[in-house]
Amino acid sequence: MTQTLQSAKGLRLIAHFDLCTGCEICQLVCSERLFGGFNPRLAALRIEHRRENLVHEPILCEQCHNPFCQNVCPVQAISLDEDTGARVIDPDTCIGCGLCASYCPRQVIVQDRESGKSVKCDLCNGDPLCVRACPTGALELIVQGGDHA
Ligand code: SF4
Ligand code: SF4
Repeated sequence: MTQTLQSAKGLRLIAHFDLCTGCEICQLVCSERLFGGFNPRLAALRIEHRRENLVHEPILCEQCHNPFCQNVCPVQAISLDEDTGARVIDPDTCIGCGLCASYCPRQVIVQDRESGKSVKCDLCNGDPLCVRACPTGALELIVQGGDHA
């Protein structure tokens, strides 16, 4: 592993919750890309529906600078994609223990039901489908300071 856990800079998804209508289109396109089917429960982002006050909050992977998921992985299957700043899971190394999903504070790591391996947001290699699909502009890809500014 050549990078440090503190070095992640680059692209990041942010949400404008006030624009989110809770339609879940973002989750549908994400699950289709990851698993080949439309299932919001198999997306690498969540929408928290707070019906009591009619707020829908997209919960996204933060691509953390000091990520729980990468730190707890016992086989070092998670690394930094230097091109995008995303934390990515190597499916050939992942043993499907689920620790990364358990420790992620955002609860945005999902399990491949066939292989048992963990799957997370990789920012679609820099052009996230969820951002393109959201009809209201509630999701945005930003460049955080540093290497990609
Ligand atoms: S596609 Fe946009 S409006 Fe619909 S749930 Fe996702 S973030 Fe909210
Ligand atoms: S999966 Fe969770 S812990 Fe890992 S980078 Fe994303 S938000 Fe952080």
